[in-house]
Amino acid sequence: MRACVIRAAGELEQIEIADVPAPGSPALLGAREVRVAVRAAALNHLDLFVVRGLPGEQRFPHILGSDGAGIVDTVGADVTTVKPGDAVMINPGIWDGTCEFCRAGEQSLCVNFQVLGEHVPGTLAEYVMVPEANVVKVPALDPPLTWAEAAAFSLVSLTAWRMLTTRARLQSGETVLVWGIGGGVSLTALRIAKLRGARVFATSSSDAKLAQAKQLGADVTLNHRTQSVAQEVRALTRRRGVDVVVENVGEATWEDSLRCLAKGGRLVTCGGTTGPRVVTDVRRLFWNQYTIMGSTLGNTAEYAEVVAVLAGGALRPLVDRVYPLPEARSAFERLARAEQLGKIAVEVAAGVGDSIATGIQWQANQASGT
Ligand SMILES: [Zn+2]
Repeated sequence: MRACVIRAAGELEQIEIADVPAPGSPALLGAREVRVAVRAAALNHLDLFVVRGLPGEQRFPHILGSDGAGIVDTVGADVTTVKPGDAVMINPGIWDGTCEFCRAGEQSLCVNFQVLGEHVPGTLAEYVMVPEANVVKVPALDPPLTWAEAAAFSLVSLTAWRMLTTRARLQSGETVLVWGIGGGVSLTALRIAKLRGARVFATSSSDAKLAQAKQLGADVTLNHRTQSVAQEVRALTRRRGVDVVVENVGEATWEDSLRCLAKGGRLVTCGGTTGPRVVTDVRRLFWNQYTIMGSTLGNTAEYAEVVAVLAGGALRPLVDRVYPLPEARSAFERLARAEQLGKIAVEVAAGVGDSIATGIQWQANQASGT
């Protein structure tokens, strides 16, 4: 099968389209596993980290991509929730189901937690094999989701949902600061915060992106290239600060994030795109009684919740641009330059712009040879 792979960690020149063995032939498929014929994949900042090299052992060639959507192609003997031909989205977190955290329903705390495209072969391929528990039927929306939209949903939506609901417990009427609104998690966090009735401060280095953030409901927009975010937030809140800061930038913003917090404020982080070593003045932390919390993806209950929100018509993914698989490296380059607003998708099989319903028809035609 065709897949987007790297053969060693390095720069984006490492990314290539190669022919690699397809996973999950019926004999090799586990009883509770499914093979998905991928129609579209979507990129996340995580993919850049994977290309550049993460700690731990990686096997090469490594298939990139955490997010994807497609059609169930083959199912293991004990699979009951989906059948071949079903259009599905993929939850990229893989858990063992046996550790104390999994037994408590906290799959993203699993001691053996893995992420598709990081620790195991990813979605930028014609086929991907995942546990049955990792696929969910694509909700029927009007107009139907495109494959690119379906592919773009899971990682950022699940991540932002857990950050704001379970971790930060954002309440109606609270204020929240979201950095870097062009990124997928940040953009989704803005939309979830508005759904929960919060007042949202959004930042970007691009005035064009800030204008779009306004359209998506941001109450206050700040250009972090030309304005001091901490000063502006203090001034705009009568020196009080915000209740919650959504962080995924790390080194470049951490100290400003703490300066933006109100007394008793909560900072929730899911990443550090500008670097992992942050400085926290412990006096500021204890005196103001801040809570700093980490968050990674989400558990299965949260995934079901956020998929239900999508099914209700909210949080439809915003797709920035769609690239054909042979141009996957260009998609990574756009992500690396942070030019996007919303998700960058990669068309893995033809007809990606088609609706899901059309996709199913397309597959039926393939099967019947028409
Ligand atoms: Zn576990």
